[in-house]
Amino acid sequence: MATNGVNGSAFNGDEHEGEFGHGIQVIDENKEFTSTMPEYLTATNVLQAGFSYHLISVFGSQSTGKSTLLNHLFNTAFPVMSESRRQQTTKGIWMSLATDPNASPNPDEPHLGKNILVMDVEGTDGRERGEDQDFERKSALFAIATSEVLIVNIWEHQVGLYQGANMGLLKTVFEVNLQLFQKDKATVHRSLLFFVIRDHIGHTPLENLKNTLLADLNNIWHGLSKPPGLESSSISDFFDFTFATLPHKLLQPDQFKLETQKLKLRFREESPTNATYSGDGVLDTSKNGVFLPAYHRRIPADGLPHYAGNIWRMITENKDLDLPTQQELLAQYRCDEISVVCVELFDETITPFEAALSQKIVQPGLGPAMKTALDTALSKFKEEAGRYHKVVYKRKLEDLEKKLQARLKVLYVAQLTAAHKNTIAVFADTIQKGIKRSGADFASLVTETRATVLADFTAEAEACSLDGAFSYTEELHAVEKELDEGATRLRGEEMGRLLARMEKSLRSKFTSEDDGVAYMFKTISPTLYPRIWTLFTTGVTDQISLFTQRSTALNATAEENEQAVYKLKKRAWKVLRMILDEETKEQGLITRLMGYFDKDFRYDDQGVPRVWKAGEDIEGTFAKSKETVLKLIPNLATFQLEDSSKPPLVTFIGDAPAGIEEEIGATAEEGDDEEDVFSTSSAKTFIILTPGRVTSLTESFNRQADQAFVDAKRGTISSVSQ
Ligand code: GDP
Ligand code: MG
Repeated sequence: MATNGVNGSAFNGDEHEGEFGHGIQVIDENKEFTSTMPEYLTATNVLQAGFSYHLISVFGSQSTGKSTLLNHLFNTAFPVMSESRRQQTTKGIWMSLATDPNASPNPDEPHLGKNILVMDVEGTDGRERGEDQDFERKSALFAIATSEVLIVNIWEHQVGLYQGANMGLLKTVFEVNLQLFQKDKATVHRSLLFFVIRDHIGHTPLENLKNTLLADLNNIWHGLSKPPGLESSSISDFFDFTFATLPHKLLQPDQFKLETQKLKLRFREESPTNATYSGDGVLDTSKNGVFLPAYHRRIPADGLPHYAGNIWRMITENKDLDLPTQQELLAQYRCDEISVVCVELFDETITPFEAALSQKIVQPGLGPAMKTALDTALSKFKEEAGRYHKVVYKRKLEDLEKKLQARLKVLYVAQLTAAHKNTIAVFADTIQKGIKRSGADFASLVTETRATVLADFTAEAEACSLDGAFSYTEELHAVEKELDEGATRLRGEEMGRLLARMEKSLRSKFTSEDDGVAYMFKTISPTLYPRIWTLFTTGVTDQISLFTQRSTALNATAEENEQAVYKLKKRAWKVLRMILDEETKEQGLITRLMGYFDKDFRYDDQGVPRVWKAGEDIEGTFAKSKETVLKLIPNLATFQLEDSSKPPLVTFIGDAPAGIEEEIGATAEEGDDEEDVFSTSSAKTFIILTPGRVTSLTESFNRQADQAFVDAKRGTISSVSQ
């Protein structure tokens, strides 16, 4: 397809073989737009050139040597009519990339511009043929909408023939140009008309030919009916002109070659900011090149296929050509296309992380990956889409950024949640392990661990925050709060364990065989309870000073300390009270009392067991011994000091500090019956033996003592009877 219509081409040789040897047929003879332009621009390395390319077209009647001229100027291979068979060769519009095989290796010398795409437009001859006129108009519109430079190819002998076919063509060019401006009055849409006068014999100097042509052009312009708003516009508002002549190719072949090589360098790269115009307003292309920046249509090369195709479609559908709208549509289309590629690029990095979201773990490397993926995608988009219509581009960039950020936000939130959980878990674990290591200072353990885990959390959050685009302040506060709550809870647990240890060691002090309560009960006397009270208060006081040392290391607050001390004192009393109950169970007491009795009644002063003899005063001794023991019982009934006052337990324990939950006796006010002996504030707490128990104890003792008396008596009788 690409080589259609190349019959008889003088260039049908080695140099231009291959798929795109003759360029591409942009518009074919059936007025169809090509689908191969992207491939062609790719093959010629123009697709990625951005704005660094040029588009020029040639116009002129059929068989005026247009294709020949282009081939000589740009080393293209457009089909040329064979000299023997005269027939039309160029059908539709062809496009080919200009190259320069004779370029000077010296980079300082003038060079043909880079990436010049040349369009060879089918010429017309019979002006009367309606169909031709239609195509001529359409191709002119197409060329003007896309090209920077329009080469107008004209025979010298046609100059001044105002009614000639060329003038008709120029009229068409001007008309369609005005048509374009109907929709787009704001943009200055400038083009260069480059007149190449062929078969210049030399009798008429270029200057005269130029003046004739300029006069004709102005005549045409004045004769046009202009759309509203453009009535007073001048031709130079839209066009620059430049003129050149060429000798007869067949009669002066060497001259022709030489001149075309010279002409070629007018299409050089430099684009002067200040163009040079001669007095009559003609652009001096020998001083500056032809490619003034103002001519560029600003369609990025990768958007050219789509743009050109759309323009052609609008033209063939006879719709008004509205270039700004076309540029916007192109921008939307291309931005979307580029966006898809950028998202694919983004996906390569991000999709694996998204797939792992369900694991709910801290994903290693997420932060840098997020940053790289976003930066890569956005910078690719900026680079490729940034050349398109600015407003559309900015909107599409925002869309893309939002879309990618939304996906990253999901990852970010999940990462923060996982990191949060992790932080708390590591904190608790480290503290627990630290506590187990003996000698660990809880307060500094907490401070250090807190700082470490928070630093880790912050580092992870910062890494994923896209340089502050995402904020983690709230999450950080939540983590800090939870850590502090955790620390308080752990300290509370530790305080609880400490209290339990203290209670245990008090209990073992109270139950010590050597100096505990049981030991003291060995000597029942009025000083029994005062001794036990002293045991209690010194034991508790010692334990409290030990406790205070330990709890300071826990970094406990004064309040927590007070509460713990209060608790310890109350628990200590409860422990003591339980031990007292145990120690004053009836059976045990009877045994102890009987011990006293026996010591007095059954043993003499030297501790030798008595053997009663007849006549000895058993009754008197018995009564005295019993009396002595019975006197001890009241001592046991009430826990009191030597002066019979109650011990200052409430003072010793002190007032309940704020925030304390009463463990025991909280319901004391419900009634006396409910009053608990374990309550430190209850009246019952000092009553060790109730009156009933005293009676029962006395009776039991009396019974056993009486039995001892009977046994003693019986012993005497039996010894007498023997
Ligand atoms: P196009 O239809 O305008 O593209 O013309 P072509 O390039 O196919 O050339 C048409 C004929 O004109 C061919 O036979 C060429 O050899 C001949 N031709 C090419 N250049 C010149 C020229 O400078 N002067 C003359 N007189 N004939 C030329
Ligand atoms: Mg041709």
